[in-house]
Amino acid sequence: MPLEKGLVHVYTGNGKGKTSAALGLCMRALGRGLRCCFIQFIKGVVTGEMITANKLSDFCFIQTGRPGYDFKVIEEDYRRAEEGMKIAEEKIKEFDVLVLDEINVAIHLKLIPVERVVKLIKGKPEHVELILTGRYARREIVELADYVTELKLIKHPYYKGINGRKGIDF
Ligand code: ATP
Ligand code: MG
Repeated sequence: MPLEKGLVHVYTGNGKGKTSAALGLCMRALGRGLRCCFIQFIKGVVTGEMITANKLSDFCFIQTGRPGYDFKVIEEDYRRAEEGMKIAEEKIKEFDVLVLDEINVAIHLKLIPVERVVKLIKGKPEHVELILTGRYARREIVELADYVTELKLIKHPYYKGINGRKGIDF
């Protein structure tokens, strides 16, 4: 049973937990029979969530980032972001919950014009719950959202030399 009225969430800020929060929301939604689609922009590495998602027959998980992305934008990243947006524009018609993971970063890097995402939000089907994550959320997007959460960095083990750990950070 889809939601009567879907709302818009933003998880932003420089602390850990944005992608994890969106995944947690999907776990809850799937349990209640909502159809979820999770599109990951920018990232192109195998993540634990991708492995789990592929085991769940009713969880659509699509990664559109480039393997080996290292914060330097190349031509291919524009094409991949465009492809991701096209998929999002289709999936929003087919699912109850749509997550656009790291979309804020894709906008920040100018891979996607903010106007295109604004259009997607404004034109979303009434019942769809839409979640946008990533640092540097643009004001235009924050204004349209119903839930906006900023994850604030207090401590992160990265700053004492502990790199991302498989199973915990990716
Ligand atoms: P997660 O995927 O763990 O929920 P996130 O989505 O909030 O984290 P991203 O900005 O997408 O964080 O960064 C992805 C990776 O970088 C994660 O492995 C995360 O642990 C790590 N990370 C998050 N915040 C920081 C930070 N302030 N400094 C260094 N690494 C970070
Ligand atoms: Mg993330």
